[in-house]
Amino acid sequence: MSRAHVVDAIIVGAGPNGLTAAVELARAGLSVEVYEAADGIGGGARTEELTLPGFRHDPCSAAHPFGIGSPAFDAMPLADHGLKWLHAPLPMAHPFDDGTAAVLARSVGETAASFGARDAGTYRRLIAPFTGHWNAIATDFLRPQWLGLPRDPYRFVRFGLTGLPPAALLARLFRDPKARGWLAGLAAHAIAPLTAPTTGALALMFALAGHDRGWPVARGGSQAISDALGSYLRQLGGTIHTGVTVRKLDELPPARAYVFDTSPTALARIAGLGDAYRGYRYGPSAFKIDYALDGPVPWTAPDVRRAGTVHIGPSYGEIGDALNRAIGGRAPRTPFLITVQPTVADPSRAPQGKHILWAYGHVPNGWEGDATEAVERQIERFAPGFRDLVLARAVSGPAQFAARNANYVGGDIACGAFVGLQAAFRPKLKVVPYTTSRPDVFICSAATPPGPGVHGMSGHHAARSVLRSLAR
Ligand SMILES: Cc1cc2nc3c(=O)[nH]c(=O)nc-3n(C[C@H](O)[C@H](O)[C@H](O)COP(=O)(O)OP(=O)(O)OC[C@H]3O[C@@H](n4cnc5c(N)ncnc54)[C@H](O)[C@@H]3O)c2cc1C
Repeated sequence: MSRAHVVDAIIVGAGPNGLTAAVELARAGLSVEVYEAADGIGGGARTEELTLPGFRHDPCSAAHPFGIGSPAFDAMPLADHGLKWLHAPLPMAHPFDDGTAAVLARSVGETAASFGARDAGTYRRLIAPFTGHWNAIATDFLRPQWLGLPRDPYRFVRFGLTGLPPAALLARLFRDPKARGWLAGLAAHAIAPLTAPTTGALALMFALAGHDRGWPVARGGSQAISDALGSYLRQLGGTIHTGVTVRKLDELPPARAYVFDTSPTALARIAGLGDAYRGYRYGPSAFKIDYALDGPVPWTAPDVRRAGTVHIGPSYGEIGDALNRAIGGRAPRTPFLITVQPTVADPSRAPQGKHILWAYGHVPNGWEGDATEAVERQIERFAPGFRDLVLARAVSGPAQFAARNANYVGGDIACGAFVGLQAAFRPKLKVVPYTTSRPDVFICSAATPPGPGVHGMSGHHAARSVLRSLAR
C-alpha cells in the first residue's frame, strides 16, 4: 500500500459514518481514500440474499428514522445517486396480548388515539411543542451539546428538559399500561435500562422522527444508502479500496489525517495510542433472525400489518426485564423484539407474493446460546400461524456479528455500552471527542456522539474536526 504522494485524508472503514466523513472531506476539496475490510462497502448498512434467491435482507440496519432525518444526509444529493426512501402506511406498531395495538403514525392524532382516551391528551401535550421542528432539534441534539450554540435555543431547552427524565419517569405520565409499553419500546433502542439517563430523550426523538419524517426503509435495502454515499464520494474524486483490513497505521499511505470508523480499542491498537481507551466498555449484543416468508406476517391486530417496524414486548415491565437480562449477562427468556417488515413498503425485496421479516432481541455480549425458539414464541404470540409461513431463516448471534464487522466487539451492535459516564461522553470524556492524542488521527464511528444509527452524524462532526485541524 506504500506510495510516495501524501493523501489529504484516509478513512479506515466504509460504514455510514466513514463514508459520510469521506464525502464531506472530499466535498471540501481534499483528496480522500477509504479502506474497508469487508468485500463491499456499508458496514451496518448492507443488503444481502441471506436466505433464498430473490429475498433481499438487511443483516444490520433496516429502518431509518434518523437516516431520512439526518442533517448530514439532507445536505447531500443522495437521491441523484439512487437513494429513495419508502414508507409503510405506519412507521411503527406495538401489539398487545388483547389483540389491539398502539401505533406511531405520521399524525399525532392517530398516534394519541391508539393509546386510548385516558392518555391521548397527555401524549398530544408532550409532543406538540416539537412537531414540525425536527430539523432544528436533530441539528441540536445529534451532536455533543457543548460544541456550538443551539440552532433553536427555545426548543433546545424545552426538549432537553422534557427528555431529561429517564423513560421510567416519562412513562409515569401515562395512566394506561399500553401507552407505557409503547414508550418503553421506543426507549429500548438505547439498549440501556429504562431508568438510565438519555432513554427518555431518545424515546421522544424516535417519536418525533416518526411524526416529522417517518421511519422508512431504503428502496432495495439499506445497501442503497451506502451505495449512494459511495457513488457520491467517487463523483467527488474519492477512492474506495475494499477487502483491506488495516492492522497498523504505517501500512497505509502517508496522509495528513487518518479518520477511523472503527471501535476505540481497534483504533488504539492500529494507531499505537496505547491505553487511550482503556476502560471503554462494550454492551449487549443481539440475536437476529432474517426470515423468508411465504406470505405477510399474520398479525392479529390489523394495524400491525400496515407498519414498517413492529415492537414486540407488550408491557413496560416485560421490556424492562428483557433489557436488564441482556445488560446483566443473563440469557433471554421473553425477549423484547424489534422487527421490521420491509416488504410492506417495498415488495421488490422478495419474489412476488412473498415477504421478508427482520427480527432481533437483545442478548448478553458474547452470548453463545440459541434464542430462535424464544424469538419465534414471541412472534407467534401476536401473529399465530407465523411459523407455518417460514420458508427459510438466517440466524446471527454475537459471534456472527463480531465476525462480520470488527466494530461489533463481542457482538455489541452499538459499538459501546451506554453505562456510567460513557452514556453521555463517548468514547471518553473530551471536549472534542472525534480527536485523539495524535493530531493527525481522528475517530468517527458510532462510538462517538451522537452514537449508533445510520445517520452519518458522527462522520459529519469528525470531518469538521479534521477540517479545523488541517486549517490550523
Ligand atoms: C443487528 C443490527 C440492527 C441495526 N438496526 C438499525 C436500524 O434499523 N436503524 C439504524 O439506523 N441503525 C441500526 N443499526 C445500527 C447501525 O447499523 C450502526 O449504528 C451504524 O452502521 C454505525 O455506522 P458506523 O459507520 O459507525 O460503523 P459500521 O457501520 O459498523 O461500519 C464500520 C466499518 O468499518 C470496517 N472496519 C472496521 N475495522 C476495520 C479495519 N481495521 N480495517 C478496515 N475496515 C474496518 C467494518 O468492516 C465496517 O464496514 C443496527 C445495527 C445492527 C448490528
